[in-house]
Amino acid sequence: MAKVVDKALLNAGPVFIVIAFGLIDMCVLAYYLVVFPYMHQLTSQKPSSLLSLASMLCNIVFTLYMVYCIHFHYYMAIKTPPGSMKLTKSPQDEDQDTLLGYEEEAQYPKTCKKCNLPKPERAHHCSVCNECVLRFDHHCPWIHNCVGHFNHRYFLLFMTYMVLSAFYFVLFAWRPFIVSLDMLNTDWPYFYPRPLMAFSYILAICMGLAVSALCGWHYYLVMTGQTTVEFYNNYYEKDVARNQGEIFVNMYDFGYKENFRIFFNIGDRNPWYSLFYPVPIPPKGNGRVYEKCQEFYLLPETQQRDHVLSHQAVQDLEDVKDL
Ligand SMILES: [Zn+2]
Ligand SMILES: [Zn+2]
Repeated sequence: MAKVVDKALLNAGPVFIVIAFGLIDMCVLAYYLVVFPYMHQLTSQKPSSLLSLASMLCNIVFTLYMVYCIHFHYYMAIKTPPGSMKLTKSPQDEDQDTLLGYEEEAQYPKTCKKCNLPKPERAHHCSVCNECVLRFDHHCPWIHNCVGHFNHRYFLLFMTYMVLSAFYFVLFAWRPFIVSLDMLNTDWPYFYPRPLMAFSYILAICMGLAVSALCGWHYYLVMTGQTTVEFYNNYYEKDVARNQGEIFVNMYDFGYKENFRIFFNIGDRNPWYSLFYPVPIPPKGNGRVYEKCQEFYLLPETQQRDHVLSHQAVQDLEDVKDL
């Protein structure tokens, strides 16, 4: 049964993408063909003042930037390979830091039972894509791809721009929405059907709420240094540690600020405002080895070993699919 679902998800992937692009661009059209002319009273005969022209220009620049960011990050989340083991470089290509990491990794080597390739820490086998993915988070049919080490940043920024744009749309489109519902009033001077305007508005509310919840969840995971798969394990481990009177340490947690900085790869080569650049920015590291926090190294060696082994055990569990 699970195999049938996986195959269906794989085959339906392009359809999900077409639907998502269609719905997003329907709201974009509703904005430019109805909300924008309504806000700037373009349908009235009054001549525009310099101030209103300036506000119109600001509005166009801002909204086009948001629309571009949504499309760019969505495209990148779809097209960027999340971190396939078949495509990653050999250890010879890596720098000194990473080689040290490999020594550490080699203490507890692991091979995937499904694809027979080495399985680095935080990698997980996706049953839909049928391969191991570095720093696997979950499989998302809406991008017809896994969310992993190399595209998680794009995925989260896509959701962020979606949420902000949906709120903006809901805030400024409510008056045209009310007008679109008033079918008795025949005055509708826009090149966009009234029922579609009403549908776009309701859709923006629903999409905004659903994506906000998912986006908030992912920011929580990023700030706490976890993936969706790791969250479930950490939740369980925390409970076990509490019952045994031990301290639980998430070895990838460097504190909110540092986790955020690591995830978005800002601070070293990229300034903080590169977050707002709609350009490809690769994540920090090669996705095969990860730095661990100081608290982890302060634990007794047996406890460190148990932590790593429990993380490895979780790598064999069922993967997460986002529907
Ligand atoms: Zn695998
Ligand atoms: Zn996948």
